[in-house]
Amino acid sequence: MNILVINCGSSSIKYQLFCIEKKIALASGIAEKIGDESSRIIHHKSNKTFTKSINLPDYFKAIENIAELLTDSEWGVLESKKNVHAIGHRVVHGGEEFKSSVIINKYVLNRIKFYSKLAPLHNPPAYNGIKATMHIFPHIKQVAVFDTAFHQTMPEEAFMYGLPYRLYKKYCIRRYGFHGTSHRYVAQAAAEMLKKPVQKLKLITCHLGNGCSITAVKYGKSVDTSMGFTPLEGLIMGTRCGDVDPALVSFISEKEKISAEEVTNLMNRKSGLLGLSGISNDMRDLLEKANKGDKRAKLALDVFIYRVKKYIGAYLAAMNGADAVILTAGIGENVGIIKKRLAKEMNAFLGRRTKLLSIHTEEERLIALDTFELVKK
Ligand code: AMP
Repeated sequence: MNILVINCGSSSIKYQLFCIEKKIALASGIAEKIGDESSRIIHHKSNKTFTKSINLPDYFKAIENIAELLTDSEWGVLESKKNVHAIGHRVVHGGEEFKSSVIINKYVLNRIKFYSKLAPLHNPPAYNGIKATMHIFPHIKQVAVFDTAFHQTMPEEAFMYGLPYRLYKKYCIRRYGFHGTSHRYVAQAAAEMLKKPVQKLKLITCHLGNGCSITAVKYGKSVDTSMGFTPLEGLIMGTRCGDVDPALVSFISEKEKISAEEVTNLMNRKSGLLGLSGISNDMRDLLEKANKGDKRAKLALDVFIYRVKKYIGAYLAAMNGADAVILTAGIGENVGIIKKRLAKEMNAFLGRRTKLLSIHTEEERLIALDTFELVKK
């Protein structure tokens, strides 16, 4: 069975075509700068890359072109569109309603649109992408895999804010958590590496990429996670500040003479590693500068690592210990110095029982597997 995985961002669509039986990705790529004159598709097939510069005014045109590439005589891997047997979509927000992946019908599609109120930047592109794929691949089943779903097992004590309860009831204000597919994938992969069922393990999974979050996974279930109502809460990230005193919103607004919305924008786009260093949101740039003695780059690194360590400590307390801490995503998988520093610092408070592992996250693969499980029934 061939499963196409689609991940729609605000101006891009990532795609991967999986063959379930062979357990491999046959092709993958990204349609970028959708809506811009310089839009293009970068397509990969067996370690070869093809860039197609083409005007992609909207998601519909982008998906139409992706379908053409997948069936292209030279760059394609399929004879016809009919060889795509199901489609899995990454959807960021499923509210409190979607606790696992689901087959998309009219109701589900409407609810994805409804939850745009909680994820205004992320759910609308997913909604538009699903509508386009339904049109272009009309007769096959489509599945939604939600970033928030894995965290729906969090207990109330972890997901409630200390705000008036009526705000939870009125506006659904609570902690949701994100990156759920990645945390679920690496928790399962860690269990395989440790040769124990995930239901018998206490794991702390650290997704450290441009966006960063940590999850306490107790016996296979998320019991706490660092991102909250939005992905702004928690760790220091590429451009997001993570946890700050909420009183700072009005303070900065008054001092800088900017609106609350502009402060939120500053906290989302101009803070984190970028804001602290004044150099870049990219860890590679910061490592290079820190090596050359740049103090602000070093400061950004120190604050980043300290926050990770603090959350690991919190989740050790939440679960009464952990069997392993897992590092994943761009920074977690690649930056040896961060792993080394965490290992050193953690040794002091963890002892040798808790392992520190780096595991490559493959969210798309898990989306393909979820899709397969649902459509084969
Ligand atoms: P992601 O969001 O998972 O793509 O991760 C992006 C982050 O990972 C950026 O800060 C990159 O600088 C960092 N990153 C990716 N690859 C490497 C690498 N080989 N060495 C250092 N940092 C990396």
